[in-house]
Amino acid sequence: MRMPPFTLHTPETLEEAISLSSDLGDSGEEFDWVAGGTDLLPNYKWHLNVKPHVISLAKVSELSKLSETHIGAMVRLHELEDSGRVHPLLSKVAAMVASVMIRRSGTVGGNICLDTRCFWFNQTEEWRESIDWCYKCDCGTGADCRVIPNQNTLCVATYQADLAPVLMCLGATIHLAGPSGARSMPLNEFFELDGKTRNVLQTGELVTHLTLPDDSSEWVGDYQKLRQRDSWDFPEAGVAVAWKPGEGETPADLRVATTGIESIPGYHVEEAATILGDWKGQSSLEELAESVRTAVKPVLNTWYPPSYRRKMVKVLTKRAGSGLTEV
Ligand SMILES: Cc1cc2nc3c(=O)[nH]c(=O)nc-3n(C[C@H](O)[C@H](O)[C@H](O)COP(=O)(O)OP(=O)(O)OC[C@H]3O[C@@H](n4cnc5c(N)ncnc54)[C@H](O)[C@@H]3O)c2cc1C
Ligand code: SF4
Repeated sequence: MRMPPFTLHTPETLEEAISLSSDLGDSGEEFDWVAGGTDLLPNYKWHLNVKPHVISLAKVSELSKLSETHIGAMVRLHELEDSGRVHPLLSKVAAMVASVMIRRSGTVGGNICLDTRCFWFNQTEEWRESIDWCYKCDCGTGADCRVIPNQNTLCVATYQADLAPVLMCLGATIHLAGPSGARSMPLNEFFELDGKTRNVLQTGELVTHLTLPDDSSEWVGDYQKLRQRDSWDFPEAGVAVAWKPGEGETPADLRVATTGIESIPGYHVEEAATILGDWKGQSSLEELAESVRTAVKPVLNTWYPPSYRRKMVKVLTKRAGSGLTEV
């Protein structure tokens, strides 16, 4: 598993990074951004969609700002975990990503933009060649998707990053910058239901930071995760439940988001609104968990079978929302 050759660029400012990406785009040269490299570089070693150029964001210090409501794309996961400056739910979820060593290098931007995963894809080049490739990395063969065959237009690889559901529940906005300028959107609008394109980033565009609304500190909640080994594995399912405490036992507002299930993280607005409209305590939490289980549609491309992951979404929703019935 040798690292393939590529040209590494190391801009020192955001302006320089965007100018580099613009120049590469104009000359038709493909590139990837690299932040901590904990996802991109293992993928490169397995020769998965390698590009001739890589632009490192490691020296762009303006992307590392961290406060209660501003999280730079280059903030390391261990900083979220340890800084004491962010929402406790964010510290908790950061501490559940991978292992200590990976969290020292891995960043918030890299976590949000994590490549989707599939057991037909996250394999060595030799292994993939032996099965004649698949659509997401077809090596020019026009290979089909192995999970949903007879369609060469959609990859259903799974989004298995932990931070997004918690950030969605806290009302995060994501901020992008590129050769055409800067733009922002609610985090749930950033993702695209295609395991190949993954998100709305245009060529040359990058994530600069995320912001949280001022009222995010008023939200409480929990994140629960299913994985093979607690020491470092990706989520096979993850559920965040957050609520704004109200008068008495009924929460003033409620949000639920999932990960590790489909090609994008799920933001379950309708399910939360329906249950909140007629809140009855424990039985409402049961109903919420069942409606989220019904809403998710996992496919067979990660370690655990889809039926088990769906069942566990219900269990995880109840666990993450257990504080709702203790009001
Ligand atoms: C053994 C192992 C276990 C892991 N377990 C988990 C886990 O439990 N949960 C989890 O969530 N992740 C897990 N990961 C994945 C990964 O380590 C983390 O998600 C990490 O946060 C990725 O951040 P990074 O900075 O290293 O990303 P990189 O590898 O640098 O980049 C990842 C992707 O994001 C893109 N990118 C990076 N920054 C930007 C930006 N600012 N703008 C646009 N695109 C950008 C890159 O081009 C690349 O496609 C695991 C990885 C390994 C190797
Ligand atoms: S979902 Fe299909 S196209 Fe995507 S990585 Fe898996 S086999 Fe390949």
